[in-house]
Amino acid sequence: MSKKMNAPRVCIVTLGCPKNEVDSDIMATDLHDSGYLLVEDPDDADVVIVNTCAFITDATSQSIDTILDLASDEDAKPGRRIVVTGCMPSRYRDELARELPEVSAFLPADDEDRIVETLRDVLDKSPRFRGVSPVPRSQGSYSSYVKISDGCDRFCSYCSIPYIRGRYHSFPYEDIRREIAWLVDGGCREVVLIGQDTGLWGSDFHDGRNLAWLLERLASEFTDTWIRVMYLQPEGLSDELLETMAAHPNICHYFDIPLQHASAKVIREMNRKGDGKSYLEMIERIRKHMPDASIRSTFIAGFPGEDRSDAKALKDFIERAGFDHAGVFIYSQEDITIAGKREDQVPMRTRKARAQRLRDLADQIGFARNATRVGSVLPVLVEGYEQDDGIEELVGRSMYMAPEVDGQVHLPLGSARPGDIVMVELTDSFCYEFEGEVRS
Ligand code: SF4
Repeated sequence: MSKKMNAPRVCIVTLGCPKNEVDSDIMATDLHDSGYLLVEDPDDADVVIVNTCAFITDATSQSIDTILDLASDEDAKPGRRIVVTGCMPSRYRDELARELPEVSAFLPADDEDRIVETLRDVLDKSPRFRGVSPVPRSQGSYSSYVKISDGCDRFCSYCSIPYIRGRYHSFPYEDIRREIAWLVDGGCREVVLIGQDTGLWGSDFHDGRNLAWLLERLASEFTDTWIRVMYLQPEGLSDELLETMAAHPNICHYFDIPLQHASAKVIREMNRKGDGKSYLEMIERIRKHMPDASIRSTFIAGFPGEDRSDAKALKDFIERAGFDHAGVFIYSQEDITIAGKREDQVPMRTRKARAQRLRDLADQIGFARNATRVGSVLPVLVEGYEQDDGIEELVGRSMYMAPEVDGQVHLPLGSARPGDIVMVELTDSFCYEFEGEVRS
């Protein structure tokens, strides 16, 4: 048998324009030259690369449908991985890791020359930390996303997701529990519950079950596993939920609440609820229940019609709220949405300038808040290794840091093993990163 017959088998599915076909050809050549065997049938492959198009919303939908069809293909080889390249990762970046946990890695179009390296990481079964890929989902990973719902009924006026993912629906408890049990059995130490609107979980069952109920059940059964919830809309933050989160030491005191704006006028035009004042009250309520809570939010700069006073309201709000982490996105005009059809679009130069000012402010506040945790001793999940200036070290995260987005805790090599949850003293911080020493 030739050596090549034992090589990993790769299928490339190309969507979109001729440019994508050229890019796919270049990736195919790189992979062939590195010893991979290219196959035409996705069912025959160990890895399928979907080279996506996201030029317009329809193209994005087609890319997502292709990925979801592949992910649910019962004829696929067991353990087949999906890697997504091209325009969609370029356009949506971090959002995709949340929306498509079925995918092992995303590679933006301008990074496709790293395809060989990425496939090597994806196929590497060892659970070492992978800096560029989303947390690997396979059994044997220390942190895994678990989707608890899909779709969204909110129809925020700037967002195309309800058009792409359909109406909101909760996944059954039994399915969620079974998936987590399987992951934990394989060594997973942290499950990250995701969905477009996690706070709504159970609302479509009409039997009283809700997210607090789900967390209570999961935290009580999987006591050695961290449970983290992402993407809570403000309306989902009931006192019952906060009390449940405060009561279980294995539920992360971590809140990822996309608020998007603070000006009452802009929030209303976004087809969302609340205003800066009610959001500040909500943050106070969280900190009353959990003074140690880490709070992350995201905002949009330059929404249509956003004037100077709106921009100032948002800046003042970010200053007063004191987020541990905040992401600021430049408003992107989507023709399919109500906001995209408005004529009072803010010039791109202004959107960019406002976004940058807010990012600088959010970083200044986030760095300072991070620094206040220096000196504390807290559990850290060790995820793997990283090279820093040629020196290998361990990296992990505390409960106050979500995978992918919030930085890491750096530990001396040999002080713990990947997969351990150890007590660590945070000895220093730099930006969103920490240095630490294992204490037990
Ligand atoms: S922004 Fe979030 S909540 Fe609003 S419509 Fe989109 S997915 Fe739903």
